[in-house]
Amino acid sequence: ERRVAVEAWTGPAATADGTRVTLLANVADGESARVAADAPVEGVGLFRTELCFLDRRDEPTADEQADIYSRVLEPFAAGGHHVVVRTLDAGSDKPIAFATLEDEENPALGVRGLRLARHNPQLLEHQLDGIATAARRTGTDTWVMAPMVATVGEAADFAERVRGRGLKPGVMVEVPSAALLASRFLEVVDFLSIGTNDLTQYVMAADRLATDLAHLTDPWQPAVLHLIAITAEAGRHARKPVGVCGEAAADPLLAVALVGMGVTSLSMAPAAVRAVGAQLATVTATTCAEAAEAALSAADPQAGREAVRALLG
Ligand code: PEP
Ligand code: MG
Repeated sequence: ERRVAVEAWTGPAATADGTRVTLLANVADGESARVAADAPVEGVGLFRTELCFLDRRDEPTADEQADIYSRVLEPFAAGGHHVVVRTLDAGSDKPIAFATLEDEENPALGVRGLRLARHNPQLLEHQLDGIATAARRTGTDTWVMAPMVATVGEAADFAERVRGRGLKPGVMVEVPSAALLASRFLEVVDFLSIGTNDLTQYVMAADRLATDLAHLTDPWQPAVLHLIAITAEAGRHARKPVGVCGEAAADPLLAVALVGMGVTSLSMAPAAVRAVGAQLATVTATTCAEAAEAALSAADPQAGREAVRALLG
């Protein structure tokens, strides 16, 4: 019996037959990073930098940003850990006074995430300077990814700016276009991170904040899972990491299916890590592949959950 008590699970994560899975934490600031460092994680998979600036009227200087980011990087400087810093995801559900455009008809489809950099290039330049300074100062293995990327051209431009500062570039897969062309994106970046919250919103055309639409904004929707599977398969082929950092990663049952699709890391709230790690420890790689197949071919989210639960016994 390989089942371990959730509280007793200590990591690093692997399936019962030894397939390694990197479990990472989602953090918002220095304080949450210190809390995350006490969880059995191998680093941070999503540092939402915009959450540091929700109450700021003016853009912080690159030096100020370097101090803020250093506090997040510092707890993960040792132990082979890494931190994925996401550049500003301002706009739509995360308005930031100094970055977000006003009066957009449809902010979720507007100038948000990396699209702001085209509008105001200095914002991205200053932020990348701040991240590079913090990475140098702390010596932490620092990866940098952009949110809301829709084209390979955007990804290539971003990657060039990040590499120019000696850091490792990646992009989030949140727009269906990026999932469909994942293999081409992987020609220009070093890793992909699937944001299932937004990917679900955009593929199902259902506002992630609309409680009436919760049946559609469900990452178990087979159409969402198909886009995840395409992305993970592209990562396998390119031998580059493909993670999931949306809420889906914190669902132990879904985590099994995601690993079966070839996802290499799962990033979540630190409180969810032990349950996911303990679940993965009970299954073989073959069971994960069967769970992926069952979830992908299910008629709807409920059928997918039931099929995977039945497989796990
Ligand atoms: C996502 O969209 O899944 C994601 C991780 O980013 P956020 O929730 O911050 O939009
Ligand atoms: Mg998102």
